[in-house]
Amino acid sequence: MLFNIVLSVVLTNNGLFNSLMKLNLFMNFKNDLDFARQLDEQDSLKHLRDKFFIPQHNGKDCIYFTGNSLGLQPKSVKNYIQQVLDDWAMLGVEAHFHARNPWIPYHEIFPQQLSKIIGALPHEIVVMNQLTVNLHLLMVTFYRPTKERYKIICESKSFPSDQYAFESQVKYHGYNPNDAIIEVAPGEGEHILRTEDIIKTIKQRGNETALVLFGGINYYTGQYYDLKVITQAAHEVGAFAGFDLAHAAGNVELYLHDWDIDFACWCSYKYLNSGPGGIAGVYIHEKHATNTSLPRFAGWWGYTKETRFKMEKGFEAIPTAEGWQLSNQPVLLLAAHKASLDIFNEAGINILHQKRKMLTAYTHFIIDNINERLHKKVTEIITPSDEDERGCQVSMFMLQKGKEIFDALTAQGVIADWREPNVIRVAPVPLYNTFKDVWQFGNIIETILKD
Ligand SMILES: *Cc1c(COP(=O)(O)O)cnc(C)c1O
Repeated sequence: MLFNIVLSVVLTNNGLFNSLMKLNLFMNFKNDLDFARQLDEQDSLKHLRDKFFIPQHNGKDCIYFTGNSLGLQPKSVKNYIQQVLDDWAMLGVEAHFHARNPWIPYHEIFPQQLSKIIGALPHEIVVMNQLTVNLHLLMVTFYRPTKERYKIICESKSFPSDQYAFESQVKYHGYNPNDAIIEVAPGEGEHILRTEDIIKTIKQRGNETALVLFGGINYYTGQYYDLKVITQAAHEVGAFAGFDLAHAAGNVELYLHDWDIDFACWCSYKYLNSGPGGIAGVYIHEKHATNTSLPRFAGWWGYTKETRFKMEKGFEAIPTAEGWQLSNQPVLLLAAHKASLDIFNEAGINILHQKRKMLTAYTHFIIDNINERLHKKVTEIITPSDEDERGCQVSMFMLQKGKEIFDALTAQGVIADWREPNVIRVAPVPLYNTFKDVWQFGNIIETILKD
């Protein structure tokens, strides 16, 4: 009863929620199906699940825990894309100006829609290209090494595409990656990076460093770094600070502008549910975005709009993040992006964060509880348990029967993710996952290990 009251207050009042979390009132979680169902019943966002196609397994909904890899398809996407196809069919090139949502300014809706999700001003945001492409374009502007300052400080085991981007950029400028790339690694026997180690490295290597470039959330451990503190440290030594937010955008609370972050980029097909290879996003702090003399690789779509079609010689950048655009926009991809962001806006990002925190806390509880119920340690969560240091992903290191359990989960319709040597990653997403999903997941693992 107390729990019911707490929960309904929690889901309607943000400030109260946070203090309740700190008071650990959620220690009353129970590992049983009725309890999980009750949480679902009281979830004020439960109607959102029906806006997505849930992949099927033997005629039933899968337990889909890979929204960190490919977010589910909003049912509305088809209509948004169909509209673009119809306008193309009816109007041809004229659709650029006369479609129901004219194509030329179609992308201008996104800075507004994304500003609350990533915590930035609209003119600091543009959607364009794909993630790794944007990472390179941003490095063109923000990684301009000199003989004294040519190093990049990053996390060890960053996502492979990012590693290749760093390595090739360094080589492109004529430096040796082994010398120019400084990786901060976890301590011996640890999985998580300590913020103090990151800061220490930045301080020690500061005067040779051009750029500090981290993921927002590490794709493997689910660790959410302290972006504000890292940025501050980078600025104190005179380096730029940028972040790859592939696993953070649409997942955790972000305040890119207030944290004074120089630049960031993300993809839209993970937590932002905008489809495979979907349009990606870029943030550039206004102090840089408005600086049209900053070096960049330019194209006609970054050119001042009023005079773009005079097609004259001499590039004149739009004095916003849009000034980094190269090509005209892929409107079919924009349509899918809009379908998904309309759902985020309808739901409200703050209430999504509230549900995420609870769903993730429940996931931690259920996984830990398996160990307790079996009276032996079968799994260890490597994702931080502090809610400020994680998003919705939970990575568990399996101490027994890892691959066997993963295969059994797959056979029973759980779509999770396996990473060598022994890690199962799950990401219960507040838009479409349920507390019952989490309970069932734990129950399947427990049943296998009991035998
Ligand atoms: C998913 C992901 C990518 C993928 O890059 P694409 O260019 O979209 O293929 C890159 N970096 C990180 C950190 C990721 O999580």
